[in-house]
Amino acid sequence: MKLETPLANIKGVGTKTAESLAKANLHTVNDLIEFFPRGYEDYSQINQIATIKPGKVTLRAKIEHLNTRRVRRGLHITEATLADDSGKVAAVWFNQPYRADQLKKEKGEWLISGQFGLNGHKYQVSNPSVEKSDGKHVNAGRIVPLYRAVAGLKSHVVRKILAELRPAIVMLDEILPSEIVKQQKLISRANALTYLHFPENDEQLDQARKRLGFEELFSLVLAGQMNKRENTKLTGWQIPFDQSHAKDFVTNLPFKLTDAQRSAVWQIAQDFENEHPMNRLLQGDVGSGKTVVAGMSASLAAAKGFQAAIMAPTEILATQHAETLTKLLEPFGVTIGLLTGSVKPSAKKQLYERIADGCVQVVVGTHALIQEKVNFHKLGFVVIDEQHRFGVAQRQRLLEKSSHLPHLLSMTATPIPRSLALTVYGELDVSILNEMPRGRQPIKTSIVSPNSRESMYQKVEQEIIAGRQAYVVCPLIDENPESEKRSVELEYKKLQKTVFQQNKIGLLHGQMASDEKQSVMENFARGNIDILVSTTVIEVGVDVPNATVMIIENADQFGLAQAHQLRGRIGRGAHQSHCFLVSSDSLKPTRRLRELEKSNDGFYLAEVDLKLRGPGEIYGRAQHGQLNLQMASLGDTKAIAIVQKAVDQFLQSGEDLLQYKQLYEQVKKYQKVTTLN
Ligand code: ADP
Ligand code: MG
Repeated sequence: MKLETPLANIKGVGTKTAESLAKANLHTVNDLIEFFPRGYEDYSQINQIATIKPGKVTLRAKIEHLNTRRVRRGLHITEATLADDSGKVAAVWFNQPYRADQLKKEKGEWLISGQFGLNGHKYQVSNPSVEKSDGKHVNAGRIVPLYRAVAGLKSHVVRKILAELRPAIVMLDEILPSEIVKQQKLISRANALTYLHFPENDEQLDQARKRLGFEELFSLVLAGQMNKRENTKLTGWQIPFDQSHAKDFVTNLPFKLTDAQRSAVWQIAQDFENEHPMNRLLQGDVGSGKTVVAGMSASLAAAKGFQAAIMAPTEILATQHAETLTKLLEPFGVTIGLLTGSVKPSAKKQLYERIADGCVQVVVGTHALIQEKVNFHKLGFVVIDEQHRFGVAQRQRLLEKSSHLPHLLSMTATPIPRSLALTVYGELDVSILNEMPRGRQPIKTSIVSPNSRESMYQKVEQEIIAGRQAYVVCPLIDENPESEKRSVELEYKKLQKTVFQQNKIGLLHGQMASDEKQSVMENFARGNIDILVSTTVIEVGVDVPNATVMIIENADQFGLAQAHQLRGRIGRGAHQSHCFLVSSDSLKPTRRLRELEKSNDGFYLAEVDLKLRGPGEIYGRAQHGQLNLQMASLGDTKAIAIVQKAVDQFLQSGEDLLQYKQLYEQVKKYQKVTTLN
């Protein structure tokens, strides 16, 4: 047996099993060895029948009586009496007609694992797993690994095959530099995988996890560093700093930049002058004022004859950005273009031409920007707003629109926890807007039980009377009688007929035609609508500072980061804002809701979210679905710090990564997933 041997050639793997394995992307011996258990059950203790207590038990017993019967249509029962030296106990299997045959076929002792407890008024072991006790058992009498049930693959089947593969595990090569293995007191890769699949005790498991987790983080952090190195080898455009334009721009602003904004722009302006293309992430909580940073940077580029492209994830947002930038940049003679899917074909054609000949200097748009027909004259600066909404490939395509790699600014309002920033985005330079524009008051958030809406609606009314506006956000568009979720349409009608008859209510959801959406948004922005009932289409970016109240219906249906984003639509002006989180369940609010009520700090909430859900869920499947860390946790800042040191050491040692072929491949894979270039 070799590591490359196809699993189909392994003893006990029939055609059907081989097919399931292939569907689960497990083809070779090596693949299955690297198929990590998702958890364990401890069956290492064999219990004596006389002393068993309710709960999970494992017995080594003979079968005495065996009886099967059909109780009624659809219910088949197999009963047996199990016996060991200490006593007897009843076992029962429901709807497993094959059990009796299996147990009759062979004499002798069985290993039987299952739940011991009351069924009706009788103590018994229910639906236990059964395995011959012949020293070759893999499912009981040990700490039993559990495997993900991919493509119908059963855990016990995987265990059986792995038992055949065990001799191959020792052939696994070490993939980490031996210096590091020694220094970090890690066990070898071969041992780690042996322990992982065949643990004898918890200590072995801990060692295996530590070792494999280190390996994952090491590759990931190294990938980030390699990306960074590769980026510094690239050359792009150099955009000289135009000081007098910068001064004029700032003087012309309707507000004073915060210190954080000023230093972010300054960092960007310096990066512009560098011959290496910028790769910078601008992080700032919702409402911290990222748009003006992007806008000012774009105008600095335009002042020196370069074009800028700003890509946003939704049409509403792109349109809003185009309006904002027009106000900010037009006084300086900068021309702005808006390119979205709903621009009419004739206008689009003209726009393409004006982009291609450089007449339009700043192009704001949605995904429409990355279409083939879009050609730039001299694209020097690319901004990706809400970058976690885009995949690596999309970003790539926008960057490729330039003959030289343009400077890249990614912006995110979902703050990335430090641990992630260091690992996944190790290559990035980061600017942080850690202060809100002056005069902002923190939003007051409260959880509301669905049965006590009255005071909440009163608050909305008060605010409207005071001239402010409100959002009501619901999770669904269509009525779904099965669930308690409120659809926007239903909510819209209900509010109009009952509580808010006197007010102007608007409706917004993703399935409306885009000019309709547009006109609703405009009306809301102009104050012609008091209450906007909306789905999450307003989640990102929408900026109407006069809106001061938000009701989020079924708030527990939203992820933490998403709810925080939604809430960020209010609290954008000088007035006190209020957010009401209506829970689906009147009894107990979820942890997420309690965290939201407690904190307005996006960084804190992002840390909590990372712990609760993992990076893939938060930062977009597009980028991190493939990250697939199985052992390490990106929330484990201590481990990350240790790994970082080790990576730095490795890089400083000047050793060639190519020496470590497997590690190199792993790193390359991560590089592709994490790079922003
Ligand atoms: P986000 O960081 O969420 O993208 P925006 O860029 O949309 O935030 O800005 C939020 C609001 O704050 C906008 O109305 C913007 O005009 C305003 N704003 C931005 N910077 C300042 C500032 N320095 N002083 C006052 N208001 C500001
Ligand atoms: Mg924004």
